[in-house]
Amino acid sequence: MDKVLSAIKPTGQLTLGNYIGALKNFPKYQEDNDVLIFIADYHALTLPIDPQVLYTNTRDICAFYLAAGLDPEKCTIFLQSQVPAHAELATILGNYVHMGELSRMTQFKDKSRSLNEKNIGLGLFTYPVLMASDIVLYQAKKIPVGEDQKQHVELTRDIVERFNHIYGEILVKPEPVISKVGARIMSLSDPTRKMSKSDPKGDIFLKDDLMIIRKKIMQAKTDTGCEVKFDRENKPGISNLLTIYASLKEISIEEAEKEFVGANYGTFKKAVADVTVDILGAFQKRYYEIINSDLIDKVLKSGAIKARELSSKTLNDVKRAIGLYGVL
Ligand code: ATP
Ligand code: MG
Repeated sequence: MDKVLSAIKPTGQLTLGNYIGALKNFPKYQEDNDVLIFIADYHALTLPIDPQVLYTNTRDICAFYLAAGLDPEKCTIFLQSQVPAHAELATILGNYVHMGELSRMTQFKDKSRSLNEKNIGLGLFTYPVLMASDIVLYQAKKIPVGEDQKQHVELTRDIVERFNHIYGEILVKPEPVISKVGARIMSLSDPTRKMSKSDPKGDIFLKDDLMIIRKKIMQAKTDTGCEVKFDRENKPGISNLLTIYASLKEISIEEAEKEFVGANYGTFKKAVADVTVDILGAFQKRYYEIINSDLIDKVLKSGAIKARELSSKTLNDVKRAIGLYGVL
């Protein structure tokens, strides 16, 4: 059984990109793997965030995990900040990463661009070190993520290699698992940029009213020409909508293209809106049942107990290997 680990940051309201690139894939792993899915709330502090918003987003993500079909009997769902080993290991691993490596991370460059240089927090810079700790603490092998997180998982591999080279085979090297279709859903109003919950531009939120979702899709930016064809370079808008359609229907892009030979953009957009509203409608129904129950607290409490136990083993192995005195 492989260990599979992933997370979402409670930085904003979840988007259709988070659903397609992350959420909807998680439950597929829980039958045959040891699955750990958490809410990366420490990571959400790397850009300014209102405490009440952080609290609400955190509960929402837990409800979304359950609504997506994650079963707390079959996997471990927990909150990062409730497992102290994450921060402890990050303190250690920070000594095995170089400033140059961190400053080359695309996410750091993108997110710090929105800030005045004097306001770039240390946490934003060291984010990949905490993420490396999140992963290696559980000896996780498969890390299902969207394309944007690939670089961080690759840096984790480098850290593991560097650490193991000095101290022996202590840490497990993780692999990013990236879907062929849907690993980078683009904004509907500007299909050249990624749909992102912390900087949304006309994007679909998972909690949007269904009428609004339909409207956003019907108004999505499309391209010149009239053929429904996948061509990221020349037809970014149509390619993005084809990706959304294919991902939600779990078919290939070629199969999706075949369905719309001869169709105009209007007919195509209506079909994309229909499938999105169908799937998100059912998803929202489950979400509202969960968010109004006491399930969230129960799940996070038992998840934290399990995660603390699992993570303490690796932390102790690391401490012992590097010579920190006093490990039991
Ligand atoms: P933020 O703007 O705070 O970085 P985000 O929308 O990028 O938010 P994350 O919490 O960084 O979301 O990522 C959660 C998961 O969703 C990751 O696996 C990430 O790769 C995936 N993801 C994020 N945006 C997209 C997208 N547009 N398309 C596909 N997957 C995505
Ligand atoms: Mg992101």
